[in-house]
Amino acid sequence: MNKLPRFPLAQLPTPLEELSRLREALGGPGQVPRLLVKRDDQTGLALGGNKTRKLEYLIADALAAGADIVLTAGAIQSNHCRQTAAAAARAGLDCLLVLGGRSPKLPAGNLLLDHLLGAEIVWTGPERRGERLDQAAAEQRTRGRTPYVIPYGGSNPVGAAGYAVAIQEMVAQLEDRELSVDRIVVASSSGGTQAGMAVGLRATGFTGQLLGIWIDKEKAGEPPYRDHLTSIANGTASRLGLELVFKPGDFHVNEDYLGAGYAVVGALEREAVRLTARQEGLLLDPVYSGRAMGGLIDMIRRGAISPDEAVLFWHTGGAPALFAHSEDLL
Ligand SMILES: *Cc1c(COP(=O)(O)O)cnc(C)c1O
Repeated sequence: MNKLPRFPLAQLPTPLEELSRLREALGGPGQVPRLLVKRDDQTGLALGGNKTRKLEYLIADALAAGADIVLTAGAIQSNHCRQTAAAAARAGLDCLLVLGGRSPKLPAGNLLLDHLLGAEIVWTGPERRGERLDQAAAEQRTRGRTPYVIPYGGSNPVGAAGYAVAIQEMVAQLEDRELSVDRIVVASSSGGTQAGMAVGLRATGFTGQLLGIWIDKEKAGEPPYRDHLTSIANGTASRLGLELVFKPGDFHVNEDYLGAGYAVVGALEREAVRLTARQEGLLLDPVYSGRAMGGLIDMIRRGAISPDEAVLFWHTGGAPALFAHSEDLL
């Protein structure tokens, strides 16, 4: 698993911590499961986040392909785009970001960082999931450049391998501390994180549940998200030389917490961000980890998760987006 070409970007292992004050605040032992957090907000590349682990493999692949510019796409507050811009800078590559929406007067949060990190930006209105990436790459080729396209969210088998490897890291940390977990909860959107984890977990014989909290606007509908996860997971397994076969029914995705849509901050996210900050000094983000934690808190309150369990919340980062959402969070 550890033989794939990798361009080092992350500070690993990321910490594994206990959220005992949050557990207390929600009702304490006897009512609330043991809560652990895996701090992938601390992966260390330009304010961290889950895309760093994927980018170690994607940038290695870009360099092997002789690229001189990487292209990727996302929403205006894309953490993936910010981390890609930073990774490209570290590798001495140019970076072109294809962002949904329109250029705001004053770039804030991740978008400010995209500029500081030297990325070139093109705006695509309502398309934020990379619909125009191939066209942008073709334009680069006509200019004599060698582009490398990183898909939306870095979610293909190359990038997802980073999360299969991350599971080995988690397993070693749990063994060291004689801990075990029954369930892993993670925000899920372009799928590489959840699919890569599924591969790593199957390879290590994990018998608990990996639960993705779907955060995106559209229902995890077309093409069905579980099919998408299946195809990334199968591709990742074969890249890693693992004889594992996944089917859509292997993936657990909760679609109950979409609220008013992608990146629309509601009471669920606001409470989760504020409670976790006040109880643990831990910053979530308003779009992904805040929604996923809000979902986890709701499931705990509704008794959908037994107090006898140990739950690991995988923090995927994203805090720079807090600075673009002050009105929604106060
Ligand atoms: C991209 C992102 C996710 C979702 O990960 P996917 O691999 O795209 O499913 C979750 N949290 C944060 C903060 C992200 O930036």
